[in-house]
Parts: sequence; C-alpha cells; structure tokens
Amino acid sequence: MAIDPNFEQNREKVDEHNGHNVWGPVDEPESLGIHGTHVAVDFDICLADGACLEDCPVDVFEWVETPGHPESEMKADPANESQCIDCMLCVDVCPVDAIDVDASRPDRV
Ligand code: SF4
Repeated sequence: MAIDPNFEQNREKVDEHNGHNVWGPVDEPESLGIHGTHVAVDFDICLADGACLEDCPVDVFEWVETPGHPESEMKADPANESQCIDCMLCVDVCPVDAIDVDASRPDRV
C-alpha cells in the first residue's frame, strides 16, 4: 500500500509536529498518520529504510523515534519540508512508496 496522494482531502489535520502538519488518524503507538504536506511521509508505511535521508540534497528529513510502531521504531520525518526543491529523489528511492511530494498541495489545503 502506497501513500494516498490525495490525503489532504481524505484525512483530517489532527496535530503539528516539528513545524509541519500531521494528518490522522493517529492512535499511538500503532497508528501515526501522515507527517508533512508539501513533503508527506506516511509514518504507517515507512519502514526506516533511510534512502530518503541519504539522498535528499537539502536534508529535508530527520529521524524520529517511534517505539512500539509495528513497521519500524524510527521514521523519516520531513522536519525541513520548506527547504524541498522538488527533485523527487526521495519519492523514487523509497522502497515502500511512503513519500509523496507536491509543491502545490499546501496552497490547496
Ligand atoms: S523531493 Fe528532493 S528535495 Fe524534496 S524532500 Fe524529496 S529528496 Fe529532498
């Protein structure tokens, strides 16, 4: 299952974390939702492969600890999503399609 590219229509904004939006449902520690809007990471799909952290040319991602989550106990958090230059490398390298990048999305929210 890949991230829903229309999550901002299909989900509700339930929180903010590290300066970005969190889209529910969230029920910690098993369900963590989607973090970010321009650069969106589905924390419930992310398995902490780390390719996005290695490949992003502008260091958008930072690890966050997510103990007790069934997929992985760390997630790639889009902590610096405002720095994104839309190169799409992270989308291409993610092995589980947990990331979606769309610069127009924050204006649609
Ligand atoms: S699209 Fe490029 S710049 Fe933006 S977060 Fe992904 S790897 Fe980084």
